[in-house]
Amino acid sequence: MNKKRDHIETRVVHAGVKPEPITGAVMTPIFASSTFAQKEPGKHSGYEYGRSQNPTRDALETSLADLENGTNGFVFSSGLAAQSAILELLRPGDHIIAFDDLYGGTFRLLEEIKKKSSAIEISYVDFNKVDLNKVIKKNTKLIWIETPTNPLLKITDLKKISNIAKKHKVLTVCDNTFASPINQNPLDLGIDIVNHSTTKYINGHSDIIGGALVIKNNKKLSDKLAFIQNSIGAVPSPFDCFLVLRAIKTLALRMKQHNSNGIKIAKFLANHKKISKVLYPGLNTHPQFKIAKKQMSGFGSVITFYHKGNLKQIKKFMQKLKIFVIAESLGGVESLIESPALMTHAYVNTKKNQLTPIPINLIRISVGIEESNDLIADLKQALI
Ligand SMILES: *Cc1c(COP(=O)(O)O)cnc(C)c1O
Repeated sequence: MNKKRDHIETRVVHAGVKPEPITGAVMTPIFASSTFAQKEPGKHSGYEYGRSQNPTRDALETSLADLENGTNGFVFSSGLAAQSAILELLRPGDHIIAFDDLYGGTFRLLEEIKKKSSAIEISYVDFNKVDLNKVIKKNTKLIWIETPTNPLLKITDLKKISNIAKKHKVLTVCDNTFASPINQNPLDLGIDIVNHSTTKYINGHSDIIGGALVIKNNKKLSDKLAFIQNSIGAVPSPFDCFLVLRAIKTLALRMKQHNSNGIKIAKFLANHKKISKVLYPGLNTHPQFKIAKKQMSGFGSVITFYHKGNLKQIKKFMQKLKIFVIAESLGGVESLIESPALMTHAYVNTKKNQLTPIPINLIRISVGIEESNDLIADLKQALI
């Protein structure tokens, strides 16, 4: 069974999807049924109740496991529901080491919910600046990584961290949302759990909210996550699973365009007089460019930059854009622009004493799959 695997461009089209056995339907149907008939009490076909199993969801979980080079996938009703499921693996008094730049909602989940409801202890560190061996304590159970991070696009060396974590028998999680399974596969670098907000690149059409976890060859962890997924019940609807499955077919194509537009626009912004600094892992000025090159095959299309103007000028610039839409989220086919301090990361700035504040002149864009010259022209006319 050592069959050479197909390329990712082929697997996105086929993984998890087989013709439906009764009708031959090529696309997995939306199995909108909350319950499934049993031949005799307690003897079911593998499907008994919609929260526990659903064929459309199965297809999506199989597909995502394949794309991340894992063995088991679990999907959830949002990226945060998926993250919350990971945190249910812990017990009161357990310690987490997390990156000091994280998605705002992840910070809020850790600080306002899990710290309070589950007495979890959390240390935020810059993985590029600390010696992890010295931060790991007796009660450390989890290392939480995001790379690239949101919104500062910091990169950290996944292989290096997973090696240290293994030595201390600490579980590692990587939020791979910003890279997508096309640009980075953390399980291949020794990470235990990959986490995605499928809302972003994976679905890519800005029409669902969803989350996923993928793990590899770990039956105990797989059983635990399946139990948590079913017991808490934050599962996605069959319709949402269908939409994500459909979107995955073009994931490789979309990422190709995102990656190519990303680097072109990052270079354009880096040379613009109204902009003082651009953060993009694909630019050789990025502080972790070498690590990014080593562990990623593309750099995506989220770009963060510092505008030289004041708040009024920045708002004017954003409102002058014709193609870029002012909106939260990222990874969709359409280009978006946002102010992390006022929008996605407003929560971070309410905790200035604990977390690094996000300056008001920091702007984040998510470049879509439009033609790059149109996007550059749009930015040019607004950056005056
Ligand atoms: C959006 C996002 C999340 C949360 O996902 P939702 O689907 O919005 O719940 C988590 N991590 C990152 C990096 C994100 O961008």
